[in-house]
Amino acid sequence: MALSASVAAAFGPSGPLAGVVEAYRPREGQLQMAQAVAEVLEQGGMLVVEAGTGVGKTYAYLVPTLLSGKRVLISTATKALQDQLFGRDIPQLRQLLGLPLRVALLKGRSSYLCLNRMESARQDWRLDERSALAQLARIESWSHGTQTGDLAEVDALDQGSPLLPLVSSTRDNCLGARCPQVQSCFVNRARREALAADMVVINHHLFFADLNVRESGVAELLPSVHAVVFDEAHQLNEIGVQFLGRQLSTGQLSAMARDLALTGQEHARGLAPWSELAARLEQAADALRARFAQSERIERIERMDWQATGERWPVLLQAVEQALVALLAALGLVAETAPELQLLQGRASELRALLQLFLQPLPLDGVRWLELGRQLRMLQSPLDVSQAMQTRVLPSGQGTKRSWVFTSATLGHDEKLSSVVDSCGLAGARTLRVPSPFDYAKQSALYVPTDFPKPGDGAHSAAVAALALQGAQVLGGRTLVLTTTLRAMRSIGDALALALQGLDELEVLVQGARPKREILARFLQAGEAGRGGAILVASATFWEGIDMPGDALQLLVIDKLPFTPPDDPVLQARSKALEAQGKSAFKHLHLPRAALALRQGAGRLIRRESDQGVLVVCDLRLSQMGYGRQLVAALPAMRRLDSAAEFAAALQELTRPSTTAQPSSSSLPW
Ligand code: SF4
Repeated sequence: MALSASVAAAFGPSGPLAGVVEAYRPREGQLQMAQAVAEVLEQGGMLVVEAGTGVGKTYAYLVPTLLSGKRVLISTATKALQDQLFGRDIPQLRQLLGLPLRVALLKGRSSYLCLNRMESARQDWRLDERSALAQLARIESWSHGTQTGDLAEVDALDQGSPLLPLVSSTRDNCLGARCPQVQSCFVNRARREALAADMVVINHHLFFADLNVRESGVAELLPSVHAVVFDEAHQLNEIGVQFLGRQLSTGQLSAMARDLALTGQEHARGLAPWSELAARLEQAADALRARFAQSERIERIERMDWQATGERWPVLLQAVEQALVALLAALGLVAETAPELQLLQGRASELRALLQLFLQPLPLDGVRWLELGRQLRMLQSPLDVSQAMQTRVLPSGQGTKRSWVFTSATLGHDEKLSSVVDSCGLAGARTLRVPSPFDYAKQSALYVPTDFPKPGDGAHSAAVAALALQGAQVLGGRTLVLTTTLRAMRSIGDALALALQGLDELEVLVQGARPKREILARFLQAGEAGRGGAILVASATFWEGIDMPGDALQLLVIDKLPFTPPDDPVLQARSKALEAQGKSAFKHLHLPRAALALRQGAGRLIRRESDQGVLVVCDLRLSQMGYGRQLVAALPAMRRLDSAAEFAAALQELTRPSTTAQPSSSSLPW
């Protein structure tokens, strides 16, 4: 049977999904997307597809890729989404479709337990706290039973735990073939399984990190897969830029000098003047740092444009390079005698290569800048990933009819999906927009309060807190406040906590106070019948990827329009590049970015066909500025509330039992 026919049968009313998957029903949009994916799988080429909330995009790409029988790489934005695909969606579909395929999960090295480092972690002086030792004991006991060594399996181990670097490895400290644990190594096992699997689930960070250092196995996998699917593709460019960027700090140079003095004395005493070589590098690094000694600012960002300005920079950088050349010559004579010296030689060569990069003229599609704290950091980044995709990623499938799918719920503001097509170098790709099946005008309303402080006003956060409290008191919690800055998040959280002090009424949850998973679980439980309810105040990562279906969330308050701060050097360089082409940076860069972020944030409100809710945007610019109309147009077509009285009535409406129906399904992808 042709793939398109198998796909139609799988999604049909009497297909394997119907009647087995809870709350499943055939949807036109889902089938349309699945057929487009099937077509690109059969014919090769690129498909960029935006699938609105509720289309069921995960199944729409998984069903055809699984049925195709082709070797597939799937990349998503976060490790949590990777776990969801690998642990829930793929096994369920594989079973329903009766396909005995081998699926593997591959994360970055730091996600896996390093058995060798775990053994020495107990002796580490940083582990003097009782709680850290107890956590280490938990990891040790888990290590005896785990099949994967994936540290995400360890209960209550926070991703930011200081213990993690002590029990995982880096490229620099992994002993490789010389490791006594190499046979049982979890990193090696995960890579072996990925190389043997039919479907491999990775994340965008790993994908781009591997393009640079080629050490996690993705670069080896890529030539052998027939299709690559990038889910959450709206994040691809920003994540890619972050990983394709390079940086060199005076701290790295000082650490090199320190290690050279110690390792040289220990393993090759008397064979080279190690202390002098180290001192020379340290002095050259100090001179580089001292270039800013008079600066009164803690952090300074400046374009490194020395070719044009005749700055002293090249002289200072060349002095560092000469120090590195001298120590490399000395290491070259003794490196064979000890693995530690070999590792040092490799590090010094990498530092030299980085330095040479910063000595070269800046490429046209790049930006370079400095950051000054206790050390000086030199950074260089491409403006987008288009060149890397065109020269290093997409050609990897030449001659093999490779298929590429890029998908997300929000990919752009125009039919051509140009923001993702242009930034990712996907010219010539087929584009498709599948609208959400939700009736937003019936299910949701948008309110922009007019009698409100301006976004820059000192009273703004207090007014946002008062409005959120008003709503939460009517709804019994069920309120999420999304802020554009951490500062606003804290001041809104503080204002709410103060207002509710001494009242056994609503709980205020603020991002950062507990791990994200715990905060979300607490918020959902607080909304259950008989509980007091909660208001969640969050920023950054809560703007996307979180799912609160049903009446758990009924009021979403966004404090300000999410324009990116103008001091971001990459964004500044993108603005300049656009202006050099005679285009408005506001119109072509800042406004589309804000529209996308606003849509992502607003997308938290309605997750199911039975959901009802109100979105409040506490920013007068949305109703008063000309560009506000464009931003409203980017939002789903919600009905408008024009006054405080209409807002109050809409809140009351949400408390009626008929509008607080339970969700039609849990947060599942169909
Ligand atoms: S090979 Fe590397 S990652 Fe694996 S256990 Fe040894 S040191 Fe750790």
